[in-house]
Amino acid sequence: MYLNIFDSHTHSDTSWDAEHSITFLCETAVKKGILGFAITDHCEINEYESRDIEARIMQGHFEMLKARAAFGKSIMLSYGIELGQMNYDLNLTRHVLAMKPYDFVLGSLHCIRGDQDFYYMDFQGTDPYALLEEYYKELYEIAKLNLFDSMAHISYPIRYMNGKCGLGVDLSRMDDLIDLTLRTLAQNGKALEINTSGLRGPIGETSPTLKYVKRFRELGGEYLTLGSDAHAAEELGEGIQETMAMASQAGFQYFTFYKKRQPRLLQIY
Ligand SMILES: [Zn+2]
Ligand SMILES: [Zn+2]
Repeated sequence: MYLNIFDSHTHSDTSWDAEHSITFLCETAVKKGILGFAITDHCEINEYESRDIEARIMQGHFEMLKARAAFGKSIMLSYGIELGQMNYDLNLTRHVLAMKPYDFVLGSLHCIRGDQDFYYMDFQGTDPYALLEEYYKELYEIAKLNLFDSMAHISYPIRYMNGKCGLGVDLSRMDDLIDLTLRTLAQNGKALEINTSGLRGPIGETSPTLKYVKRFRELGGEYLTLGSDAHAAEELGEGIQETMAMASQAGFQYFTFYKKRQPRLLQIY
């Protein structure tokens, strides 16, 4: 079956926390009948040396070329990168961006300055609202840098605060700060990602939720990318179909994927 599904957020074993090769992801995508996907392996700017990321980028690019040679006729493969914490070191960010001919750059923020990834936190003895305020100030810094194509999972801390730790945090207390980022993305013609990984986890919702996708539209946002954040082949394309319906509810007729850093539109139906 031909499906109009393009997954703009996936990880291969070039990322330290993912399981399968790009070639195997391509094979799975063909089996699932999806149109294509972007490979967006991690590049955490603050862990560039400790994770040996330069070598990973070289290897990932080589793997992508092999996969494209084998599957290029049956699947659209966009060569991307998930660039985390780019606001921490602009010189290094520019170096990474100049290294390879990326089709797609996904901007993300997984922590706040000097702290660990929210993924590892148990939030004991912390004020979650103070952490969130800091997070959204930093996210706004990244939005203003304007060096990416789409902004990933803008409610990332909530995945762990509410999904994993059940803190019951009310994100709407951050709405004014979140607006700054959404407005900047819209004004700069950048995309907002709807990340579907939460649909597979305890939180049971996308990042962000419909409310923020609607707000992005109200502020003039034109482009949405949809991403499963797959860390294993079976997760590829998961939740994208449902999320198209949500995008449509928010007033979008199209969603976007990127080739050569240019948006390509796919109709939502
Ligand atoms: Zn991420
Ligand atoms: Zn990711």
